[in-house]
Amino acid sequence: MTAIVFILGTMLLAALGLIVELESRELDERYVQCPRCHLMLDKERIPVSGYNSEHSSEHIHCPRCKAYIAI
Ligand SMILES: [Zn+2]
Repeated sequence: MTAIVFILGTMLLAALGLIVELESRELDERYVQCPRCHLMLDKERIPVSGYNSEHSSEHIHCPRCKAYIAI
């Protein structure tokens, strides 16, 4: 009985760890930190510039300090 509880507990912890890892990976892709003022920026909420220009890559501007951030 104790062994079963131990195995189930281990599996539960492993599953929780996997979920946390997946969520933090998703956050890494969604958020970018401003190199100048260290504000965390949500890429899905900030308009991306550079879509229609052949000479500039996609980038965003920090809403606080207007720093150029390549994404
Ligand atoms: Zn900034």
